[in-house]
Amino acid sequence: MTRVSVDEARELWLHADDEELMRLAQEVRGRYHDPDRATYMVMRIINYTNVCVAQCDYCAFYVLPNQNGGYVLSREDVFAKIDDLLEVGGDLVAFNGGFNPKLPLDYYCDLFASVRERYGDRIEFYALTVAEFVFLADRAGLSYADAAARLRDAGVHWVTGGGSEILTEDFRARHAKWKYTVRDYFDAQRAIVESGMRTTATMVIGFDETLDERLEHLQRTRDFQDETRGLFSFLCWTYKPYGTAFGGREISGHEYQRHIALSRIFLDNVKHIRTSVLTQNEEAFRALDFGADDFDLPIEDEVTQKAGARIDLDLEGLLAIPRSLGYTVEYRRAERPAEVVGS
Ligand code: SF4
Repeated sequence: MTRVSVDEARELWLHADDEELMRLAQEVRGRYHDPDRATYMVMRIINYTNVCVAQCDYCAFYVLPNQNGGYVLSREDVFAKIDDLLEVGGDLVAFNGGFNPKLPLDYYCDLFASVRERYGDRIEFYALTVAEFVFLADRAGLSYADAAARLRDAGVHWVTGGGSEILTEDFRARHAKWKYTVRDYFDAQRAIVESGMRTTATMVIGFDETLDERLEHLQRTRDFQDETRGLFSFLCWTYKPYGTAFGGREISGHEYQRHIALSRIFLDNVKHIRTSVLTQNEEAFRALDFGADDFDLPIEDEVTQKAGARIDLDLEGLLAIPRSLGYTVEYRRAERPAEVVGS
């Protein structure tokens, strides 16, 4: 199969049945992975602050700086959460919080350096998302290149592509006009790659985005990967509407699985297509048949939990599901510094 165009992807979405989508997705998956094997990680998202000035209308997590209920985790709080994660066998932490104007870049550099010093290579951590990185760099008055260098020098290896939701300027204007522009997002991510750090792509579906907007997001992601080869993986999850200003309804597991297939077919230059247990629970594993190869078992993410995500801590029970679908599941350790530098 040759690379599909946006028009061909649109046709597939509108007219291909599940069997055809699965067959095409498995063909692309097979270029990178054994057909019957899936990998996973046990991880924790640490939401270091819920104070945020971005005011995205799909978010149930944030409080404004002048409102009650805002918090910033202490270093001890962070360490305790990482210790808990190690105890259940996990080794990946993802820091994700609000756009808190009271936290300077030094706060982050000190926090990440202290985590690196305390845990060494027992854990790996995703320091921030590209969205937070844009905010931090702007607040500090630094270029993206200089801000990336500061984080890298503090021991950061990964700034992930989180906070992207749908990467079209129209979507940003409708739902998150104070967060970033699409152009800023990719300029920042390019600087992250050029600094030597690693990054990932993400996407969230199930708001009010059109099919064309989903396709534009995928096109921009594929173009960025063609240009930089910096994306380790692509993770798509689904919007949780509970407690948000925007509201709405959840999309079905079936729609999610078809979208994973379309993403695998379209993103032929991305090795890992990841399915979201955090937002799709049992339905997420069925997406392995639709082209995904990898997933997280998260033990905490306040952002999505506040909007209705349900976390199941019975990790063995969860792993029994892909096994029952015929997959061998193997733990994938977070990539360590030498691999990051050498890849
Ligand atoms: S999604 Fe992130 S940036 Fe947007 S309001 Fe929520 S915490 Fe802030």
